[in-house]
Amino acid sequence: MSGKDPELSRLGEALSSARSAYAAAKKITDETKARLNETGSRIQTFNAKISELKKGIDAEYSAMRSERANGDRDAADEHRSLAQSMQEKLTEIYESKKACFGELDEARAAFNKALDTQKVLRDKVQEAWDGFNARLEYLKNENAREQAKWKEKPCKICGSTIRYNVEWKHIPNLCKECFDKDKANWEDRVCVKCGKTFRINKGWEHIPTICGDCRKIVKAEKAARENEKAAKLQAEKESAEESARLAREEREAAASALVDVANEAVGGAAEGEN
Ligand SMILES: [Zn+2]
Ligand SMILES: [Zn+2]
Repeated sequence: MSGKDPELSRLGEALSSARSAYAAAKKITDETKARLNETGSRIQTFNAKISELKKGIDAEYSAMRSERANGDRDAADEHRSLAQSMQEKLTEIYESKKACFGELDEARAAFNKALDTQKVLRDKVQEAWDGFNARLEYLKNENAREQAKWKEKPCKICGSTIRYNVEWKHIPNLCKECFDKDKANWEDRVCVKCGKTFRINKGWEHIPTICGDCRKIVKAEKAARENEKAAKLQAEKESAEESARLAREEREAAASALVDVANEAVGGAAEGEN
């Protein structure tokens, strides 16, 4: 992509800030998840202790009963007191577990909230991606359209390739090198007819001595002269034809006069014979 598109830069920045917002939200989700897991495992620890204590209490009571059956009251009392202190411990643990459930609810709520936020931000990242990609696609097409405006043709002098844009007002016929060389070939001349300055190219086959305006005048004069000459020729031709026709008529008249004379002479003779 040639050049920097400010809109693409803006969308790129929007994308990267959406990504960092998402990363921050994900970090919070991870933290709340860790807290939730930690609270859960604390409850499991309490549960393990609870079942351990329950077993212990059961064991102490059954030991107490068997000592009683054996008649050993002291030993039975000792087991009962152990069972009682375990019972106290159990009550404490139940209290802690209850408090822990409160924490678990809080941790779960915090985790769910963080997860929702993360989802919203993930959609925003997707949106920003779509926007960025759409702009990128647009710019690619634009670039292709711009590239299509560039064409090539051969230099009229050396044939080397000239790259030009179809939208240029003046599309060059010469390559840069030939153009510069050709520029040096142009020279000012003074018209021999009107004295005005005009430009000629030393590379031309016929270098004019008169300016373009004078050349037009000379051309017009020449054309007029030729027209005049043609008219004169036509008139001459017509008058020659006319003279020829008159001469022919005269000859014909003379011939017919001769015939009349001859006929008269022949008629006279015949009359004499009769
Ligand atoms: Zn050239
Ligand atoms: Zn002139």
